[in-house]
Order: sequence, then C-alpha cells, then structure tokens
Amino acid sequence: MTVEELSGELNILTRHWRKRLKLLEVDGAVEREGSKYLRTANRWKPDVARAERVTQHRLDELAEIKNYVEHTGCLMEFLSRALDDPTAAPCGKCMNCTEKTQRNSPPQELVQAAVNFLRSDTLILDPRLKWAQAGRRRDLKSLARSVELFDTGKPKSMIPKPLCAEEGRAPLRLWRCRLGRSSCAREI
Ligand SMILES: [Zn+2]
Repeated sequence: MTVEELSGELNILTRHWRKRLKLLEVDGAVEREGSKYLRTANRWKPDVARAERVTQHRLDELAEIKNYVEHTGCLMEFLSRALDDPTAAPCGKCMNCTEKTQRNSPPQELVQAAVNFLRSDTLILDPRLKWAQAGRRRDLKSLARSVELFDTGKPKSMIPKPLCAEEGRAPLRLWRCRLGRSSCAREI
C-alpha cells in the first residue's frame, strides 16, 4: 500500500505514517518498493519493554533537571558530575557560588497575560486538501462527479476548492501526560 492509501484507511496524517513506517522498515517488518510499502514475512511485534525503558530514561532526565534547578551547591559542579567529569569541583562563578541567589519575579500582569494566552489558545484544524483515494472515489457513483480528471482520464488527487471543508477549531485538546503514559483532555 502507499502512504496515501494507508492514510485514507486510518485517517492518520501522512507525516505520522512516514515516521511509523520508517521504524517498521528498520525493524524489517515492512519494505519499500518505490512509493509502496509491503509487509515482509518477518514476524514483528512492538517492543514494549524497550519503549518503557526509553520512557523511564526520559523521566529520570526530568528528575535530574528538577534536582539541578533546586540544587543549592555549585551548579557547574553539578553539571560536571552529571557528565561523569572526574575533575568536577566548585567553579566559584555560578549564582550559588557567588551567593547571588535572589531571583527577580516577573510582573504580575505579565504572568496573568501568559496564563490567559495559554488558556485561550486555539487549535486550528486544517481542511483536507487531497482525496484519500481519488481512484476509489471515482468508482463510487455518488462521488464520481466530485473527483476532477486530468486530460488523460486519470483522477486528480486534489479536492476541488468549492468542495473543500473550511478551517476548523478543536473543542478539546488531547495531550500526553507524563511522557505518554496517559492522556488528558482539556476544553479550549
Ligand atoms: Zn559554582
């Protein structure tokens, strides 16, 4: 199948498909022939253990960043140790070494403006510009006239402008929390 055919079947953006197919290609589960991807005879199943190891590694990195932000000793020494530098020692120059730990707070109005901006952000949904499968749609009598043809009789993949949907707005935003372990939805 081509990426466009897969996108038509599963309603997933082409660029997302390409990433997934690339990984499956590396694993030997699919192979590419021109613009088509073919399933190989190799057995394949997702490596869940590896995915969990990577997620745990990311969580450990976040915890390390939090420790750095809250660290009261030399910051340069902290970084050097994190990078396994055997000569790590206080630098005498960072804000903790020089005891310049007083932080300036941003103006309250600026904080409120940032909060308002984040709460009112708009998620724009781009309209589909191409038919998922122009050829197949051309075969459906009810849709045959909505697919334009080239001079050669081949169906065009672009949706005619008058038939394109308008730009949309999402009523909810769904995002991954805790690095992919669960999903949250928020009204916007
Ligand atoms: Zn220092």
